[in-house]
Amino acid sequence: MVTIKSDKEIQLMREAGQILAQVHAELAQYVRPGISTYELDAVCEKLIRSRGSLPSFKGYDGFPASACISVNEEVVHGIPDKKRILCEGDIVSIDTGVIWKGWQSDAARTHAVGNISGEKQDLIDRTRESFFVGIRAAEAGRHVNDIGRAIEEFIRPFGYGIVEALVGHGIGQEMHEEPEVPNFSCARRGMKLRKNMTIAVEPMINIGTWDVVERENGWTYASADGTPSAHYENTILIREGEPEVLSLLPEEKKLYGVL
Ligand code: MG
Repeated sequence: MVTIKSDKEIQLMREAGQILAQVHAELAQYVRPGISTYELDAVCEKLIRSRGSLPSFKGYDGFPASACISVNEEVVHGIPDKKRILCEGDIVSIDTGVIWKGWQSDAARTHAVGNISGEKQDLIDRTRESFFVGIRAAEAGRHVNDIGRAIEEFIRPFGYGIVEALVGHGIGQEMHEEPEVPNFSCARRGMKLRKNMTIAVEPMINIGTWDVVERENGWTYASADGTPSAHYENTILIREGEPEVLSLLPEEKKLYGVL
């Protein structure tokens, strides 16, 4: 079901988004060689709960942690693990969400661990930029496919693979609502975007193939050819004109030139 939010509901989603933006910003400071993905998740959960919000991922379909933490070739849904120690040169994607007064926000960031190759840094930067290119098409009256087409047109010249097995989504009181929001162009133009819809846009980009494999743990997806993968996501509010990004801090919005 697609839900159109009231002004009061949007305000709560804005608050949820700001909490999540703060959590991501603080958590980023813990990313360094030698820390385990388990420790990062523990910090993440503490940061979420200390703000009076709840970790939406914990227990979702049985997921055991508050954050999905995916390293290098892992695309999404990495399970935090005491034995998974971050090393200099890795890239790590942290995807997490909060529930605040019944309303959800969902966002992901990919970080460098120490010094990384130029190839990996380009992947991180271009994946993030593809999000901002994509959301410029996310205005009331346009269609879901306009977002995916914009992302694809931006990414294609780099020769990267856009992950197709996983897509963005509507969000509200549920983490996953309609519509699905692909990061690539589809034959159908998709649902019409309406004012006060809230969606999570989340490009997942591999240096190599678009194809992914599922790991034996039943959760984690990795690029099929083992090349590094990056993920960048925010929860946004559809408006007339450019959308509002709910899960970025004011200074980040200024930096990226968005509302
Ligand atoms: Mg999401």
